[in-house]
Amino acid sequence: MLDIQRIPLFRDNYAYLLTDRADGTVAIVDPGTEGPVIEAIDANGGRLDLVLLTHHHADHIGGAPALKARYGARVVGPQSDRGRLPDLDQGVGDGDSVAIGSATARVIATPGHTSGHIAFWVEAANAVFCGDTLFSLGCGRVFEGTYPEMWESLLALRALPDDTLVYCGHEYTEANGRFAESVDPGNAALEAEIAEDRALRARGEATVPCHLGVEKRTNPFLRADDPGLAAALGMAGKDAAEVFAVLRQRKDTF
Ligand code: ZN
Ligand code: FE
Repeated sequence: MLDIQRIPLFRDNYAYLLTDRADGTVAIVDPGTEGPVIEAIDANGGRLDLVLLTHHHADHIGGAPALKARYGARVVGPQSDRGRLPDLDQGVGDGDSVAIGSATARVIATPGHTSGHIAFWVEAANAVFCGDTLFSLGCGRVFEGTYPEMWESLLALRALPDDTLVYCGHEYTEANGRFAESVDPGNAALEAEIAEDRALRARGEATVPCHLGVEKRTNPFLRADDPGLAAALGMAGKDAAEVFAVLRQRKDTF
């Protein structure tokens, strides 16, 4: 049994503190800075075994060296980006497994936002930690990979079970929702989701984690192969990766 605690960092980042109740193992995902993470760890018993990194951006790795030094935690991240990450104790790639106490995280390669980006899927907890690849109602910018690569990465996440909870790297949902409804105005499931997210934010609450099953019906970036969405963009019959590229480019300037 894995407990998952969301830790807000900076303006809109989330790190996640994972505690395996079976043996007490503790892991942190994407500690962009150490201050609030140390507070959470010390309130949780003062133990940290693992630092899991999804990609090399500073807002996801900044706290890793200090946490490693303070708690003796092992740092795990994408092997292919070893040169741009804090000193890794374990480099991992697609299909690898990382034990978090009695739980197992499976590594899924998700290149696109960065070339080495990975996600950690913990099936037993119905949880995926996907950094800046998939967001609620959105996806990360394509900085280093190609659009077809990013689309494949999103398909790999979409292939996970509907009841998977998506623990993404940022609280971007409201702005994502405004873009989503501009390209997919007739989607009732999307409208319902946007209303729910607005209510959560009005109460100062997080919209993350979100449900992958809902994202499959509402997130335009997971629906680039939906004929209705392609038609609404004037791209009927086009390849899904091309539709995805146009969606992502429109969002960049929305
Ligand atoms: Zn990033
Ligand atoms: Fe980020």
